[in-house]
Amino acid sequence: MIPVVALVGRPNVGKSTLFNRLTRTRDALVADFPGLTRDRKYGRAFLSGHEFIVVDTGGIDGTEEGIETKMAEQSLAAIEEADVVLFITDARAGLTAADQAIAQHLRAREKVTFVVANKVDGIDGDSASAEFWGLGLGEVYQMAAAHGRGVTQLIEHVLAPFAEAVSDEDSDDTDDAVDERLYTEEEAESEQERLRALPIKFAIIGKPNVGKSTLTNRILGEERVVVYDQPGTTRDSIYIPMQRDEQEYVIIDTAGVRRRAKVHDTVEKFSVVKTLKAVEDANVVLLVIDAREGIAEQDLGLLGFALNAGRALVIAVNKWDGIDTDIKDRVKSELDRRLGFIDFARIHFISALHGTGVGHLFESINEAYESATRRVSTSMLTKIMQMAQDDHQPPLINGRRVKLKYAHIGGYNPPVIVIHGNQVSRLPDSYKRYMTNYYRKSLNVVGSPIQMRFQEGD
Ligand code: GDP
Ligand code: GDP
Repeated sequence: MIPVVALVGRPNVGKSTLFNRLTRTRDALVADFPGLTRDRKYGRAFLSGHEFIVVDTGGIDGTEEGIETKMAEQSLAAIEEADVVLFITDARAGLTAADQAIAQHLRAREKVTFVVANKVDGIDGDSASAEFWGLGLGEVYQMAAAHGRGVTQLIEHVLAPFAEAVSDEDSDDTDDAVDERLYTEEEAESEQERLRALPIKFAIIGKPNVGKSTLTNRILGEERVVVYDQPGTTRDSIYIPMQRDEQEYVIIDTAGVRRRAKVHDTVEKFSVVKTLKAVEDANVVLLVIDAREGIAEQDLGLLGFALNAGRALVIAVNKWDGIDTDIKDRVKSELDRRLGFIDFARIHFISALHGTGVGHLFESINEAYESATRRVSTSMLTKIMQMAQDDHQPPLINGRRVKLKYAHIGGYNPPVIVIHGNQVSRLPDSYKRYMTNYYRKSLNVVGSPIQMRFQEGD
């Protein structure tokens, strides 16, 4: 499971600076969820081999009365959901009462916490950070977020335990582990066979009240549920294995249907972190949108996260029952307008309440999964590359024609197609898009993004 790192601290200590630096390392989409999570910001980060979710919790202003209340309102949920807290302080400003109050809170929560003294650039870091040892949270890490100093070392240190966990998991040879093998036709075929026996993990995501629980219940009511009574925590989804037409699936239930049936307290139903983790762990994301509300910023934020993670995608526009034709038309044109850019995903109009169209979702889930994980031989990919090139020559760059040599697969879910050749890295974006579309059509990839990589030489 992808670790979640929360940035906590009073205002102006450098949390956003660090957040931006961490999420910029990969063109991570930052999801803002207005209304839902007020001052929190979520990003996907990738740094020296570590992948993680980073949450900027907004600042805690030490001047107000009752820091506990403020803490509870703004950052408590983020802290609860995090695996690790980076408690950021300002080495220039020195230790403040607000820092003390935050530290006290963190000690009480018993969260894995790292104290970071930021802004050590141009000052004597050792002496400036010495007083933060007094917070009673152990070692103080020095950093200058604005200059990137100490950031990589900090993250490596903080995430080292998770890296080990990840490599253990990878060794069980899951379908989406990075696979750079050059396949012959036969190997591609037999690998495909093996894959068919694996369950398809799909996450049902969407903003609150779009009908996720209703949909999950509808699916579970109709299909054979293998096991469902799994414990779940607030921040984790429930994994429900099921079977349909001989295919095994695991529903990643972000709405917590099964838990709510048992626990009657007010467990927060919606959690961004839970959703993001579910997306990371799924093969296919089923994004549910409420037809009666049209497309909201939050829908786009979630969609962006799924795309950024490279996940296969199916869109369900729910509550399609009992709405007028003119509203249906309006929703459809809004979908065209705002979701036109993801023309690869299938859109279903369903009623989770009445069950209309729910069965058909599985056709698209299967298709998206198949598209995202299909094994294709090196010779096939190279042939397609050559056909594309014959149809439409790459442009001249500095008077020389770009030469494409061969193509192979570089990963799955999403499929990564690696093209080798001379000057390929200088191909214009328009040509790269042309290649992507050519592959999409030739391989009939529906419901999954395709990533292209261009590598110089052989
Ligand atoms: P936040 O309120 O905790 O999110 O803080 P910001 O990231 O907005 O930073 C507050 C101010 O501190 C900004 O003016 C930053 O440019 C500055 N800052 C952040 N990191 C550093 C650093 O490493 N060194 C110095 N000198 N200034 C920094
Ligand atoms: P969640 O927060 O996304 O899990 O949403 P719920 O499944 O709890 O549904 C929120 C509300 O929408 C409930 O009152 C449902 O009965 C209603 N709802 C869900 N699906 C449909 C649907 O297909 N049609 C209609 N009319 N209402 C629905």
